[in-house]
Amino acid sequence: MISAFLGLGSNLQSPRAQLQRCIDTLAQLPGTQLMAVSPFYGSAAIGPGTQPDYVNAVAQIETALAPQDLLTALQQIEQEQGRERGPERWLPRTLDLDILLYGDQVVNLPHLHIPHPRMHERNFVLLPLFDLAPDLALPDGQPVRQLLQRCSRDGIWLLEDTHTGER
Ligand code: AMP
Repeated sequence: MISAFLGLGSNLQSPRAQLQRCIDTLAQLPGTQLMAVSPFYGSAAIGPGTQPDYVNAVAQIETALAPQDLLTALQQIEQEQGRERGPERWLPRTLDLDILLYGDQVVNLPHLHIPHPRMHERNFVLLPLFDLAPDLALPDGQPVRQLLQRCSRDGIWLLEDTHTGER
């Protein structure tokens, strides 16, 4: 079993409920155990135009699924929760799931890059990841703590009443 960290985000159709439903589904994935879920954070949407705020969290799983199979499973969950994919990036979304880390493995396939290429600069990833694993380092040795110190705290806030805690 490999310990993996997943990024969860939603800014449409009751985002908190979308995340909770997704967490319940993650717990049912084959060959997978849900280990912990971070507190939920609110974050301002990035990208052009005005969009609703996001709700973000990080989940830790232990899984026997290979990285590509895990990605397929996550994309299926996105589909089930009504995610519409289009040619445009940065569209509002009912659910966005990213594989942030998969043990200390580095994966560079055409459709899958782990560690997630933009996790280093995203406070809505680093803050909940740090909540779960304050001593974690990326495969290249960079401590999450250090990445977080370099990251802006603008446009992110803790949603105090949604702490789901350890499972
Ligand atoms: P997005 O629209 O931001 O959800 O991007 C989805 C695309 O990113 C998918 O087509 C995936 O194949 C690709 N992708 C690359 N690396 C990852 C990763 N670590 N986790 C999730 N999706 C990834």
